[in-house]
Amino acid sequence: MNEIAQHIATIRQELPAGTRLVAVSKFHPAEALMEAYESGQRIFGESRVQELVGKYEALPKDIEWHFIGHLQTNKVKYIVPFITLIHSVDSEKLLAVIDSEAAKCGRVVDCLLEIHVAREESKYGFTPESCREWLQGNPLARYPHVQVCGLMGMASLTDDEQCIDREFGELKSLFDELKASGKVDAEAFKELSMGMSHDYRLALRHGSTLVRIGTSIFGERAY
Ligand SMILES: *Cc1c(COP(=O)(O)O)cnc(C)c1O
Repeated sequence: MNEIAQHIATIRQELPAGTRLVAVSKFHPAEALMEAYESGQRIFGESRVQELVGKYEALPKDIEWHFIGHLQTNKVKYIVPFITLIHSVDSEKLLAVIDSEAAKCGRVVDCLLEIHVAREESKYGFTPESCREWLQGNPLARYPHVQVCGLMGMASLTDDEQCIDREFGELKSLFDELKASGKVDAEAFKELSMGMSHDYRLALRHGSTLVRIGTSIFGERAY
C-alpha cells in the first residue's frame, strides 16, 4: 500500500458509521488524488474554482467533488454543473447566485451554511446569531434550486483543546436548534462538516458527519 492509501485507511478506522471523509486535495497534483482514488476514496474537497475544474476534467467521473473554500459569486457558474456539495455558503447573495445558476442547469445543488465560531477574525461565514436572525424570515423558500443540508465550521487555530471543544459544541447545538426550528428542511438537514487534520478527533465527539482532512493524508501543501 502507498503512503496516501495508508493514511486514508488509518483515518477511516477512526470514523463512526455515519461520518464520511472528505480528502482535501487542494494544491496537490492529480497523481496524488489518483493514489487516494485507487484506495477507494471518492470524495475530494477543493477550495479554488480553477483548480477544481481542471481536476474534474482530468479525473474519473465517479468522484464526488466538494467545494470548501470561499466562493466568489462570479465563479459559481463554473462548478454548479457538477459539484456535489458546496460547504461554504456564507451569504444570502451567494445562495441566490447558486440558485439561479442551478436553475439554468436544471439541478438542485446541495449546500451547507458556513458558520463562524472561531476566535480569529474572519470576513466569511454567518455568526450563529446572524444565521438565526436571517432564517427567521424563511429566506430558503425563495431558492428552490438549493438544498440546505446542514452547517460547516472551523474551530480556532490553537492548541487549546478546551477552546476547540467549545467551538465544535457551539456548532453542534446550533445545528440541533436549526434542525428543530422549522426554518430548514429537517429531513435534508443532516450534515455537520467540521474537523480538519489537527482537530477532527474533537469534532467527532460533537457529531461531525463530514471531516475535511488534507495534510494528514497528502502531507504539507506547497503554496
Ligand atoms: C485546507 C482546508 C482543510 C484541510 O486542512 P488540513 O489541515 O490540511 O487537514 C479543511 N477545511 C477547509 C475549509 C480548508 O480550507
